[in-house]
Amino acid sequence: MPEVVRVRLKETDDQSHYHVELVGYHTDHIDGEPIMISIERCINKMLYNRFWMKTLAGEETDLASGKCSVCGHEPYLRTAADGEKEEHLLDLPQA
Ligand SMILES: [Zn+2]
Repeated sequence: MPEVVRVRLKETDDQSHYHVELVGYHTDHIDGEPIMISIERCINKMLYNRFWMKTLAGEETDLASGKCSVCGHEPYLRTAADGEKEEHLLDLPQA
């Protein structure tokens, strides 16, 4: 099951915060750089696959479709371990 290891962030139009724009994961088929996919594509894939990440504390948590904690933007990805104003995906290394 894919572990998300990278994110690409994009500043919002009003420059007040960042949104996760792409998430990256490794596959068995391709070595090297993670494959980067859009949020929409990841949410589609989540119908059939469990996507997960490791938090900075080293805990595994599942990704889930949700809303941006700041502006409510959708489609968006959160994790099961997120607090109301906490987004673990933003902690991942940027690609
Ligand atoms: Zn937002």
